[in-house]
Amino acid sequence: MDNLRSAIEILFQKQDPSVLLEAHCDFKSDVVKKDFFTEQYQATHHQFSGNQTEQLYSLLKENWMKEGSGKASVFNVLLTFGKQVLRVKDGAPICQYEHYLRWHEMTATVGEDMLTCSFLAYDDIKTRTKRNSFAWNTVLESDNTHLDALFRRGLSELHCHLNGSSINFDLNWLAIMNEPDYQKPEWFARGAGRRTRLYNYAVLAAFIRLYLFLNIEGIADRSQFAELFKRLWWGRDIMATLSMYIGTLQTEITSQLGLNAYQFSGGAIDYAIPSSLSVSDKQKTVERLLVGERRLLYECFKRIYEGKVDVVGLSEMLYLYLVIKLKVKDIIIQHNELKGFANFKSFDKSKERFVEHSRNKAFQELVAKLAIDSYRQDSHIDYYEFRIAPKPTASLMHAKLKQLSGFMNKDEKANCVFHFIKSPDKERCFEDNTLNGYYCRNFEGRLVYQQQSRALELLLRRGDDRIVGIDAANSEFGCRPEVFAEIYRRLQHLHRDTSLEFLKEMKWKDLGVTYHVGEDYYDVVDGLRAIEEAILFLNMKDGARLGHAVALGIDVFTYYKERKNTIIIPKQDLLDNCVWLLAKMDEYAIQDVNGIRNKLLFEVQRLMGEVYRYFSMEDYRAYYQSWLLRGDEPSLYRTAGRNTPAPTDSIEEPFLLNHFDKRIDVARGQKYARVLYREYHYNSEAKHRGHKSEEWKLPEELIAVMDKIQSEMRNEVAQRKIAIEVNPTSNLRICNIDTYDTHPVVKFRNYGLSVIDEYNDCPQISVSINTDDKGIFATSLEKEYTLMALALEKQKTTEGKPKFQPNNILNWLEGIRQEAEIQRFG
Ligand SMILES: [Zn+2]
Repeated sequence: MDNLRSAIEILFQKQDPSVLLEAHCDFKSDVVKKDFFTEQYQATHHQFSGNQTEQLYSLLKENWMKEGSGKASVFNVLLTFGKQVLRVKDGAPICQYEHYLRWHEMTATVGEDMLTCSFLAYDDIKTRTKRNSFAWNTVLESDNTHLDALFRRGLSELHCHLNGSSINFDLNWLAIMNEPDYQKPEWFARGAGRRTRLYNYAVLAAFIRLYLFLNIEGIADRSQFAELFKRLWWGRDIMATLSMYIGTLQTEITSQLGLNAYQFSGGAIDYAIPSSLSVSDKQKTVERLLVGERRLLYECFKRIYEGKVDVVGLSEMLYLYLVIKLKVKDIIIQHNELKGFANFKSFDKSKERFVEHSRNKAFQELVAKLAIDSYRQDSHIDYYEFRIAPKPTASLMHAKLKQLSGFMNKDEKANCVFHFIKSPDKERCFEDNTLNGYYCRNFEGRLVYQQQSRALELLLRRGDDRIVGIDAANSEFGCRPEVFAEIYRRLQHLHRDTSLEFLKEMKWKDLGVTYHVGEDYYDVVDGLRAIEEAILFLNMKDGARLGHAVALGIDVFTYYKERKNTIIIPKQDLLDNCVWLLAKMDEYAIQDVNGIRNKLLFEVQRLMGEVYRYFSMEDYRAYYQSWLLRGDEPSLYRTAGRNTPAPTDSIEEPFLLNHFDKRIDVARGQKYARVLYREYHYNSEAKHRGHKSEEWKLPEELIAVMDKIQSEMRNEVAQRKIAIEVNPTSNLRICNIDTYDTHPVVKFRNYGLSVIDEYNDCPQISVSINTDDKGIFATSLEKEYTLMALALEKQKTTEGKPKFQPNNILNWLEGIRQEAEIQRFG
């Protein structure tokens, strides 16, 4: 099956449109070139010899390409796959449970619709079904009846970002296909260069799509546009002549949009969505957007599988169209193997770009609207919290919420969490020595967050039941939890303005607190320290949640082994991490570590000298105490000296100091701790030196110590009753996790899953399963549960026996489902 998947990827995703264009006059010629295929295959399957790859090529040509009709075609390869993994249930496609992981891996790269449409076209021919419904679920579910029963008991989505939870790629594709001319500036606005070629191909795809549509509708004979395209297609150099007619294409599309296309409240969106939508399709407010594209693909596949030849060039055009579509998908949806948040971010930025720049009013606001609709119409989901970014003023935020409320239409399930967007210090804060002593770390960011939090405060005091929590997201590098410390304290202690008459009837609930942390880090220790900072500085207590917290469960030995025990990290962070490690070894009373202690102490001395020019420090404990103070407002320490008293609270500004933990109050009483905290923020030369990275080779013995600390921290999180929002697919894409069954969630909690003996070793942390950005990761909440279930079912013991029984996995998931319900902020 893995080979079949690779073959589909090579044929559709890796295929070069220019090769197809050269061959397009003669589809019978070898569009699947042997050299190309074997080269591509071996690039990702190094273990196969040339001979084996050739065998595979002949399997492709002789079997997979001849599936169904017996006539060789690339579309039969789709069918080979579809027939193995899909089936029809209640008129809609559904994935067979045992193949759900393969389905997920395949569709992560090529999407679902190409496979479902080809499968349904074939199945409908075979069963003589006349299909008029195309609005099946965006993300297919599996046919596992027990999971379905679990879903029907009600799911809670606790971690999703509104704008990444839409049908992001499909909407962008519709915008490109319906506005090929208008979207041109957007193609070249960011990252021009190689985009030129892709833009030209996208225009060609738009030509093909309209031409195929006119043929499927049976109106091509009367269309001047169809005549024109036929000439271009069979002409000499289509890519050179196409651009001259883009205006004609746009005019024809605009006229089709006004003719027979389905009119949404803001107007037509896609000319291929027919005005005569079936009643059931109309009710699916998200998937009805997909009906035009799906119907078009389905009708094309049907003609191909039936061997109809009424549209000359259909196969060639469809193949090229699909190949181009996947090339565009590559720049919008993340599925590549590169890990890390920076990679994710480059995709995250694209999630709305073509929709945002649409000239069509109906397109605007659709990303957010469809995200909300997708939860509203999902009968399994009975509670969700979507995240949006705060704005600088209360009235702007109010306007945004009002707009969203319009989409929610009194949806009781919807709740809003505002997430601040982390941003690192600007370079100049480190570079410019004239600023010495004035700007604390993250000075500019802090100003922005202050303003946003004041605006949010105003909004909350006036009462809005929808807002249930706060969060902070985005890359963790250069923006640590301490930046949000005062804001979190202030917002958690907020009370409603009870003098306002209309608020008297409304219920008041404290804000919930969550924070994205331990997702992307310099190394595991860095991630673990960030998690503890979030707990201590953001005052996380019973009911608070950590977003991701992968560092808390990732396998430490594998992590460092993969990096050959070497990390690259700014000196300041390395110093902090070494000191923190020493303190944790004390705190958890980790035994027999004298050797490693001395090595770390030596490193601390060295780094203190290099960064702070401070050789005669009391000992690392003073530095650790200064770290404990990082939740305090920095400006209170700007003039801290050996003889100045510790700052105290004032009634006007009651949230500037952190009193979460006794140790912090003790640290504040220590003059060296206060001086070192001042240096950390206001010694700009030290900041500059600390910002420089170094390569650091970890002492081997340290890794086992880290493993112990990580395990102790899991216990601590459980004891503090802090929950973890787990996002399996997102974590696999962004973090260093390769498979679902090795996801740390099982280390966090195995209650219901394993034999009783193993329960004691596991802290049984309260966890929830969520999607993060389902529109970008092509997933759904049901899918996340299903992927975890199947991956664990497939896990084997060393003797090759199943490690877990399906029923135990269901019990485990049921426990998580219930935990998520408890964790709700609203
Ligand atoms: Zn997130």
